[in-house]
This record gives sequence, C-alpha cells and structure tokens, in this order.
Amino acid sequence: MSDPRWDDKQLKVGTMARAALWLLQVVGEGNAFTKEQLRIAFPGVSQADRRVRDLRDYGWVLDTSVSDATLARDEQRFVRRGVDVWVPSLRRAVEFDSGTVSNKEREAVFAANGYQCVSCGIAGGEAYPDRPSETAVLAVSRRTMELLSGRSERVLVPECKRCKSGTATRTYSIPEVRALLEDLAAEDLRRIRRWALKGVRGTTSLDRAWNGLRTLPANERRKLLDLFD
Ligand SMILES: [Zn+2]
Repeated sequence: MSDPRWDDKQLKVGTMARAALWLLQVVGEGNAFTKEQLRIAFPGVSQADRRVRDLRDYGWVLDTSVSDATLARDEQRFVRRGVDVWVPSLRRAVEFDSGTVSNKEREAVFAANGYQCVSCGIAGGEAYPDRPSETAVLAVSRRTMELLSGRSERVLVPECKRCKSGTATRTYSIPEVRALLEDLAAEDLRRIRRWALKGVRGTTSLDRAWNGLRTLPANERRKLLDLFD
C-alpha cells in the first residue's frame, strides 16, 4: 500500500503525521530543509517544527547543525524515515513501548551499561568515528533476549539513536555469545574479561599496529609488511 499524500485534505491525521509525509514526499530522504519551508508548507500551524522533532521518538532521524556541521543553523536534514506514524496501530505500538520507561528507569539502564550503546559501543556524546560531525545520543531500547536457560526475557538496553533507527542492528542471544566466548583463546578470554570489568574495550597491540598501519598509503603498507615475510 502506498503512503497517503501529505496534502490530502481528506486525510484525518495530526500535524506530526502530515509533516512526516511532507518530509518523505517533498523533502526526500537525505535532503535538508529549513524552518521557513516548513512554515510555508504548514501555514498557520504553530510549532510545526516541534511536531517534526517529535518524530524522533518514532525512529525518524533528523540531523541539526549541532549534530551535522555541514548544515546551517536554521536547517535540518531528513536522514531516515521511521515508523509510519500516520498508521494509528503502528504509532500506538511505539507509544506503548516507550511510554512505560520512566526517566529514572532510563538513567538506571544507562548507568548499568556504562552510558554506551549496546549495538555499536559508542558512548553518549561521543562523535561517530565514521562521521565526526555527528555525536551519539543514547535512548532506551527493548530487546527480547534468549537466556542461558532457553527462556526469553524482555530487557532494557541503551542504544544510540543511530543504531536504534537502523534496520540492520545485529542482536545476540546469550547462548550465541557463550559460543563465541568458548571459541576464544585463553589470552583473549582474559583480555575480554578485563574489558567487561572496565565496561570499555581496551586496545590490543594488534589494534595499535593496525591503527598505525591503516594510516599509511597502501603501497607503504605493503612495503612495510614485506619486511616481515
Ligand atoms: Zn550505536
């Protein structure tokens, strides 16, 4: 089924849903828009920009000049669509899921996990290595985890908004992680135990060598590695 038109007068939806359709159909994913364009599209609607911001709670990714330095102050970029908020059942499912996490609960989940995204490991406020102009904002995600007993349980985990909105997030069951740990050599197991204690991945001599090596031009890398043949 195709999405309804954003300017369909018959469509009975609020400003947030209509703005979501406007982003999709007028702005287009990946493109920037200004507050002025939004004002023109929604004349007489106060706080249309606030309704656009609300879309973030439904997995829509919108960058501002704070998170994306290539944008002007009054610009935002529509990075990625989220939940189809104009479909009441989908919208309610999200509201139910996020509405039950209190601020206190959220803070406890963040603290228990060292303020790091469980999917990519980035810390809240840290810049993404592949996109230094963008900093991570943490949110709470619900995951269904398979426990060692084989039972499944719903757990709360911190996840950065980028991973949360992505569709390709890899999730692991506890038996899967156990199998991965069983494959590790004793030395690596000791290392990963230290990382788990500190809550951050430490660097290994292999990482450090690679970090140095990858900064070199390809032919210099080859020449250098040939010395070790
Ligand atoms: Zn992440």
